[in-house]
Amino acid sequence: MSEPTVQHAQQGQPQQAQPQRSQAQAAFAVLEAELELALQQDAHRALQLAREAQALVGVLADPLSAARAGSLLGAALYTRAEYTEAEVVLGQALTMSEQLADATAQRRCLAYLGYLTHACGRHAESITYFLRLIALVHSPGAPLGAEDARLHQAEAHNGLSMVYSHLGDVASSLEHQLEALAAQRQLSYPGRLSMNLANISVDYRELGQLSESERYCQEALSLARSVGDIRSETVALYNLGLTYLAQGRPGEAGPLFERLLELARRAGLTRRVMWGLHGLAELHLVGGQPERAQPYLQEALSLSQASALRSEEVDTWLLLGRTQQGAAAVASLERALHLAHEHGNLRAEASARLALADAHEAAGETGPALAQLRAYLSVRDQREGALTEQRAQVLAVRFGAEESRRENERLQAHASQMEETAHRDLLTGLLNRRGLEPQLEAALAQAQAMNTSLGKPLCLAVLDLDNFKQVNDRYSHQVGDEVLRAAAHLLLAGCRSSDVVSRYGGEEFVILLPGTSLDAAAPRLEELRCRVQQYPWAQLQPGLTVTVSIGVTQLQVGAHPSASALIAAADACMYAAKREGRNRVVAG
Ligand code: GH3
Ligand code: MG
Ligand code: MG
Repeated sequence: MSEPTVQHAQQGQPQQAQPQRSQAQAAFAVLEAELELALQQDAHRALQLAREAQALVGVLADPLSAARAGSLLGAALYTRAEYTEAEVVLGQALTMSEQLADATAQRRCLAYLGYLTHACGRHAESITYFLRLIALVHSPGAPLGAEDARLHQAEAHNGLSMVYSHLGDVASSLEHQLEALAAQRQLSYPGRLSMNLANISVDYRELGQLSESERYCQEALSLARSVGDIRSETVALYNLGLTYLAQGRPGEAGPLFERLLELARRAGLTRRVMWGLHGLAELHLVGGQPERAQPYLQEALSLSQASALRSEEVDTWLLLGRTQQGAAAVASLERALHLAHEHGNLRAEASARLALADAHEAAGETGPALAQLRAYLSVRDQREGALTEQRAQVLAVRFGAEESRRENERLQAHASQMEETAHRDLLTGLLNRRGLEPQLEAALAQAQAMNTSLGKPLCLAVLDLDNFKQVNDRYSHQVGDEVLRAAAHLLLAGCRSSDVVSRYGGEEFVILLPGTSLDAAAPRLEELRCRVQQYPWAQLQPGLTVTVSIGVTQLQVGAHPSASALIAAADACMYAAKREGRNRVVAG
């Protein structure tokens, strides 16, 4: 797929490799932007541009461009309905972009794989891709800007809506379309927003909420007009026309279909020309003038045949059958039936059989009418069955996704609980030694980075209950535990929120006092010592008294190269306090 001439040029002139590479990078960026646009407007051009992008990858020779180019080529192939090749290319690009954690290429691959599998009738897979697209927004591995996140969200919900709409689940389709709208309203792509509004209008029409349908379509239309976006304007025109027809307002629908036809012809949008022709034919049929519908349908027929628009051709034959009578009607409908059957289009096949039953019955041919009616029922059941089966598959996928999300949440909650338990002392609720470590390292790094002369001071105190073994021996281990709990509470209550209080071991506590010099720390610790001494311990057990010995040291970068050196220094002070008679603070 790479273009040999480009590679030869590079090989022949190695001294020019650098400028060529940056030129290629710039060209690639331009191509990527152009392609995004072409994907929406011109499938043929998109494919051409995608092949050019592939050739540039040969020059750039970096995996990121390869992933991006792959995603673009896949998207272009999909747009040309070359599904088999598109799926292979998109699959490879997806794997590559996941390895590189490139959210742009991942989004493109997931979205187009979603569209592709849907187009191939693999709806459960389609749902999986769109759900993965939503998950991408929340994935910590691929951090996205707010705008990209909304773009992903809108794309994914739009895709999900498309699948549900196909499966006949209009309510779910609408739900996702409204989600897409919420994301889209915060973005600035008026064309896409207009399409989104028009899709919502379709769902409301399907649900019989015609005034809602009209409201959304009006907004879609004026938005599309305000930015001169012909693609979305034509969508809005068609749907507003259909809603007017459903409301019994053919007079207002007519000019919209006329305008749609004119715009679509001018812009060469064949499929939309078909919409205009069908809209006008429908209008005359509803108005009881089938002969006026026929010229539009004749044109639609030759257009659909020339452009190989199969589904549109079937619909045209069906409409034509409705404008005719007797053998002519039967012939058109047979034609529709044949094509629908050939393409496995069960929806159109059911419509054709029902219309044939009507036509035969009108001609007094009760036998064939009955046969078509029976066939209609069987096709309808078949279609219902297929749709239900697909819906079940989609539900299974959704159920699985929800289950794994819940399981993930459970695991995460469990993990953070484990983490918390590992860092906390169960008896007192204070941080334990392991919990202190990271705090101490962080405080040390901060104090050292600030170079102490300018930066904030840091003090560390070691506190050890005096003669605690006697408390256990004299009163009981349970009382000892209660003393530890009460002492922890006293220490915590007497400290600032910026201080870190931990139970370092048995009856030994370590307090970290960030931003505090030794001069300021000593009186604060003296106050803590008093609090412990003055606590009404006797209320716990008659005769019980508790005191604490405290050693405190201020960090000096030279003298205390590590956390353990700082602790050892404070510990030495604490032992000095013990030696000097306990129940005191020694600073040093
Ligand atoms: P000193 O004033 O020299 O510190 O004397 P001391 O008795 O406090 O020191 P020593 O290290 O001899 O004894 C500490 C005691 O603390 C021993 C141990 O039984 C008790 N202890 C350690 N952890 C716990 C605990 O979780 N609960 C209870 N009740 N006692 C504990
Ligand atoms: Mg001790
Ligand atoms: Mg002790």
